[in-house]
Amino acid sequence: MLDFGVFLENKPIFYTLIFLGISLGAMWLLSVYWVYQDIFNRTKNVILQIVAIVVVIVFPFAGLLMYVLLRPAQTMEERRLQLLDEKIMRRQMGDLSLCPHCRKSVAEDFLFCPFCRKKIKDTCPGCEHIVNRQYEVCPYCGYDLQMAKVSKKPAPEKESAPAAETAPKEPTPKSKNTKR
Ligand SMILES: [Zn+2]
Ligand SMILES: [Zn+2]
Repeated sequence: MLDFGVFLENKPIFYTLIFLGISLGAMWLLSVYWVYQDIFNRTKNVILQIVAIVVVIVFPFAGLLMYVLLRPAQTMEERRLQLLDEKIMRRQMGDLSLCPHCRKSVAEDFLFCPFCRKKIKDTCPGCEHIVNRQYEVCPYCGYDLQMAKVSKKPAPEKESAPAAETAPKEPTPKSKNTKR
C-alpha cells in the first residue's frame, strides 16, 4: 500500500530528510572542528591530537561524547595558571615561616632558628611530627598542643616528679646528674 515512491514523490518529506541529513552532517563537521580547536588547547602531544580528531571523524557523535569524557581535564592555560597559583602560594607559605623572634626566613621543618638560636617549632608529644608552636592541636594526630604547653609551664617548679627514674628513696628532686 505504501511504497517508497510515495516518499520520494511527497516533496515535503523528501526535503525534510535532506534537511536532516545536511544538519547532521553540519553538526558532525562542527564537532570535528570544535575538537580540533579544543585538543590543541589541551595538549601538545601530537599523537593525542591525532587520535582525538580521528575518533571524532570516524564515530560521528559517539566519538564526541568519548572525547568530552576522556580529554585532558584542564587546558594548558588553566594548568599554567594553576602552577602559577601554587608558586605564589608556596612563596606566601615561605613568608609565613619566618622566625618569630628575629624575622629571618627559616625552613618549614626547622626546630630552632639558626640565626638567633631560639626555639621556633615544637614536636607533637603525640606523634612526634614537627608542629607550629601556635597550633591549637596537632594537625597530624589531633593532640591538644595548647594543653601540652600549659602542662609544660609548671614544670620549672621544683616539684615535678618524673617517677620514671629508678630513684625511689633519694629525696633530692633537683638532682639531674649534676652533682659529683
Ligand atoms: Zn630567629
Ligand atoms: Zn601529633
